[in-house]
Amino acid sequence: MLENKVALVTGASRGIGREIARTLAKEGAMVIINYNGSEARALEAKELIEKEGGKASIYQCNVSDFDACEKMVKDLVKEFGHIDILVNNAGITRDNLIMRMKEEDFDAVLNINLKGTFNTIRHLSRQMLKQKSGKIINISSVSGIMGNAGQANYSASKAGVIGLTKTMARELASRGITVNAVAPGFVDTEMTQVLSDDVKKAACAQIPLGRFGQPSDIANMVAYLASDKADYITGQVISVDGGMNI
Ligand code: NAP
Repeated sequence: MLENKVALVTGASRGIGREIARTLAKEGAMVIINYNGSEARALEAKELIEKEGGKASIYQCNVSDFDACEKMVKDLVKEFGHIDILVNNAGITRDNLIMRMKEEDFDAVLNINLKGTFNTIRHLSRQMLKQKSGKIINISSVSGIMGNAGQANYSASKAGVIGLTKTMARELASRGITVNAVAPGFVDTEMTQVLSDDVKKAACAQIPLGRFGQPSDIANMVAYLASDKADYITGQVISVDGGMNI
């Protein structure tokens, strides 16, 4: 389905991003695993993909750094000639109630989750415009749709990703580039493993399907949006959340 396509997945060293990279590689794409601090995990992801018969390479870049993202895009275009799929998955949480939230925790979350998404699109859209094609998929969150106590910074960043997605979809549609967002609910990764059992139980009670999602639940939707089966879908926010946001 994705033969001859090159895909850049940010934050793909572990968690949902790694599973997205694996899934796109299984569909035939050459996948670039972007990471920030976890080089060993990124190499592990690359080896896993290669063992499964896929093609992958790794690239270190802090997505919140505008100039570093420009260099990443330039380097990758030089090496691969084209980039067809961009998945903005890199993200962090720094949860706290608003009265206790530090300014630096607000800024860090906005800088990585929202500005990081802007940075990669800002630099890669030029190349996709030249190619007259491209699929951009941004990972938002149910928190960005419904809000979530303790996540003022995170919810704001993920709501911002939705606004960015819709605007990019309008700006880039005339050149055959689609831009969509996927909004996961609670997914079983290191991001949620830090939650206490009580919080997990309370979260499950809010999920009509009664369980956390798996990274593959998100990756399958991303692979669909990255394929030509989704050519007529743009500017949408697809919830993959077990029904949380019904
Ligand atoms: P995770 O397990 O904590 O993994 C986060 C990934 O982001 C890592 O690969 C990390 O790479 C990368 N990353 C962090 N900061 C970065 C930066 N500045 N530049 C480049 N990469 C960076 O998180 P996850 O649960 O897989 O979440 C993935 C995405 O899904 C995030 O956008 C998250 O907000 C969203 N999401 C998750 C859930 C959930 O329940 N898990 C729910 C809704 C939405 P390094 O280790 O190399 O820094």
